[in-house]
Amino acid sequence: MQQIDHTLPWSACGTQRTLSVFRFGNGPRKAYIQAALHADELPGMRVAVALKARLAELEAQGRLTGVIELVPLANPIGIGQMFQATHQGRFEFNSGKNFNRDFPALTEALVERLEGQLGENGEDNVATIRCAMRDILGELPVAQSELDGLRQLLLQHACDADVVLDLHCDFESVMLLYALPQNWPRLRSLAARLGAQAALLAEDAGGNAFDEACALPWVRLAERFTQANIPLACIATTVELRGMADTERERCQADAEHILAYLADQGLVSGPWAPAPTRCCQATPFAGAQYAYAEHPGVVSYLQPLGAQVRTGDPLFEVIDPLSDRHSVVRASTDGVLYARERLRFAQPGLWLAKVAGSLPIRHGRLFSD
Ligand SMILES: [Zn+2]
Repeated sequence: MQQIDHTLPWSACGTQRTLSVFRFGNGPRKAYIQAALHADELPGMRVAVALKARLAELEAQGRLTGVIELVPLANPIGIGQMFQATHQGRFEFNSGKNFNRDFPALTEALVERLEGQLGENGEDNVATIRCAMRDILGELPVAQSELDGLRQLLLQHACDADVVLDLHCDFESVMLLYALPQNWPRLRSLAARLGAQAALLAEDAGGNAFDEACALPWVRLAERFTQANIPLACIATTVELRGMADTERERCQADAEHILAYLADQGLVSGPWAPAPTRCCQATPFAGAQYAYAEHPGVVSYLQPLGAQVRTGDPLFEVIDPLSDRHSVVRASTDGVLYARERLRFAQPGLWLAKVAGSLPIRHGRLFSD
């Protein structure tokens, strides 16, 4: 194992932050796994702890057939953002920006650089494109902030990987994946192994989140250079490892084993691994996800457990204003699985309280709520 430490750009004097990447194995294929980009989403960090120990074992046994880069703490800025004893790891305090948005979009620069350079050999094209990606990221202007510097470093490590797993979680959630529709067939076995109850697919959810920044350029380049043979060389997904409180050791260790088995499916680890279960959730469009909001302030009581299969019209939660006694029930507007609930039990304007994965598109434009 090799530990690579990067110093983030300067911030307040007397302070300095470090991004640490742990590199295991050798070989032509590469996987990149990061955890806690939203720094208060800790199940991924616990899974990474388990992965780090297991990867060291597998490396010692000579069973790594590719390179695996692991970043157990992808957000050294957000990890220290405590506000009166609560962790605020989603938005940078300094800029208010979401840590998982606005990664460098490589497509346009790649198109410019690759004109006339791609041919019929897919493998050669992958090598040429990855080289151009590394060059473009290496030539970016010096980062003007810690956050920009962090984004560049993370993408530099991930851009040339065959498999990118970005480990997140929701407030209270079932296991689920976000991905491009084009990559779903190759992620199905990961979803099956992890026991995912939902997979939300979008080609461009808006905001250039990390998994899209890695995977989308391949789709766009194939669209632009129609004469060239350009495979979708990066399978990237955001894995929502259930809810924020779900850091139990046994479950996280099991999740780590499922991820290793998937890496074996992808040719990065050798040895005997159980085959992926044949049973797998149906993927649905991210645009089919209902974000359910309250209509007025009040205390919230959920009327369905996480993972419930609901039908249109089924009650999701009730809201009661303790002063006016106003009472309302918010219902499902689509058939599907109730995959996430807010932690907070007091209704806020503009704050979703429940999410249902339906199969019919009901939203358009930017699909993220923040
Ligand atoms: Zn997240």
